[in-house]
Amino acid sequence: MLTKKVDDAKIRMLCGMIDEAEHIVLTCHVRPDGDAVGSTLGMAILLRSIGKKAVVVTPDLPPRSLSFLPEAKEVVAYSKYPDFAKRLLDESDLILCCDFNKLSRLDMLEPLVAGTKGKKVLIDHHEKPDSFADLTISCPDMSSTCELMFRLICDLGLYQELPLDAATCLTTGLITDTRNFSVNCSDPEIYTVLIKLLEKGVDKPMIVREAIELKSLDSLRLQVHALDHKMEIFESHSAAVITIGKEELERFNYQRGDTEGLVNVPLSVEGIRYSFFLREDDDCIKVSARSVNSFPVNKICEDLYGGGGHVMAAGGEFKGSLDECRRILIESMPSYDRWLETNSERHH
Ligand code: 5GP
Ligand code: MN
Repeated sequence: MLTKKVDDAKIRMLCGMIDEAEHIVLTCHVRPDGDAVGSTLGMAILLRSIGKKAVVVTPDLPPRSLSFLPEAKEVVAYSKYPDFAKRLLDESDLILCCDFNKLSRLDMLEPLVAGTKGKKVLIDHHEKPDSFADLTISCPDMSSTCELMFRLICDLGLYQELPLDAATCLTTGLITDTRNFSVNCSDPEIYTVLIKLLEKGVDKPMIVREAIELKSLDSLRLQVHALDHKMEIFESHSAAVITIGKEELERFNYQRGDTEGLVNVPLSVEGIRYSFFLREDDDCIKVSARSVNSFPVNKICEDLYGGGGHVMAAGGEFKGSLDECRRILIESMPSYDRWLETNSERHH
């Protein structure tokens, strides 16, 4: 059995909003990951199975690594179908905003979502959500939005109705946000959630292979190149920084998602406490950060790049050159040294 994590008043409100809604849109943050697509698509599949009109609208296309998800083709990316996405949002009377805590994370979709008449529900696990929604269901202590969504589904009394395809989507977010149950997984109940999803028939090994392991040869070569030639180690700050410029991305035929997981690799070296990956995209420098033992990379992303995220997995966007983005980070490292002392890694 799962303990109650969301209060009854909010569950009742959500239940009423779903009952009343005819056209439901589920949306998530830009550059959607397994948790963002898994939570929206999983809930959309469930809602459709109980007779609702429900559609997932994302700011941009999900990465190829998520195309195995059931009904992934039904996802409407605003970047690809702006008119269709706009119409869906205009027609919707309920919008479930999943896996983000502020509207700016919707990127190009922000004005459309902000401007629609539909009621908004925030369903998320990031700290300090903005208060833009009619109903805010924010649980920062949860591993993933998919875990939260699953709990909501149980609280709504819909577990029995949950189709296998929806369970597969929800399990995917659980797996990607916990790096296959290696981080954010100390709450024993997350395994109860997993068991209840597996009981639906979910093929976990398939998800791990598709969502985490499989890479194109180009992507593997790009990552090897990055680690071999573009990783800098700042020993006195226990930090690693990887930078990749546009020219290199082109050389390795970069596709969305090809650098997924790269930022984690330096953390396998003993003594490296945090890792940054800076990638020169078309419109900005995409910043990705990970850490071990609670070194707060979300604080660095917030301070330097106006970004955010979780303590040990965060990111941001920098408008400027790759060099400048790297320089700001390196120059700021000394001011974060004090966080290295807390939660020391080993207790010999
Ligand atoms: P990733 O490195 O996988 O892109 O992002 C890791 C986490 O950092 C995300 O789950 C999200 O919580 C956060 N994050 C990534 N990019 C941004 C950003 O531009 N702004 C904010 N506020 N958070 C971000
Ligand atoms: Mn998430």
